[in-house]
Amino acid sequence: MKGDTEERFAAKVNKIPGGCWEWSACIHVTTGYGLIRWEGKTQKAHRVSWKINNGEIPAGSYVLHACDNRKCVNPDHLSLGDHVQNMRDAVERKRFPTGDAHHTRRNPEWMSKGEKHPSAKLKRSDVFKILWAHRAGATITEIAEAYPVHRQQVARIVSGERWKKEYAEFRRQLAEIGGDDD
Ligand SMILES: [Zn+2]
Repeated sequence: MKGDTEERFAAKVNKIPGGCWEWSACIHVTTGYGLIRWEGKTQKAHRVSWKINNGEIPAGSYVLHACDNRKCVNPDHLSLGDHVQNMRDAVERKRFPTGDAHHTRRNPEWMSKGEKHPSAKLKRSDVFKILWAHRAGATITEIAEAYPVHRQQVARIVSGERWKKEYAEFRRQLAEIGGDDD
């Protein structure tokens, strides 16, 4: 649309020390996201920044902040969370990996001797699945049955005591879901 230029967008950006590009125009009162009139409708500034730099946002995808600063529109601090919608759907349906996705089929070696190896290594992706499953309402016992970990380990993961970085990222994704519906 005429007038929706990169220059007009850039004029509302305040580059602050530390690398964030803070939105200096309208900020949404409750969500804290920058807002801009763009392509005929009010949109979140960080999403527009993504579109300017990367093209259209695929349907159902979220533009996530790596920097925890919702006013920030620095494209280097933004990433596409195309799995988040799926995760949210899973949360709503209280679903977590079972059936073919169950670890005993994906990783049969975990079932060897009918025992769990206390030292079994979880993958980063498993940690996220555990966090989302717990959020979806799965109990610690249910999760411990689905993954090669003991209940105590699950409890430490869902409380953020272990895998702290992943836990922080998970919390960030949750926060973004809360306010990123346009
Ligand atoms: Zn930033």
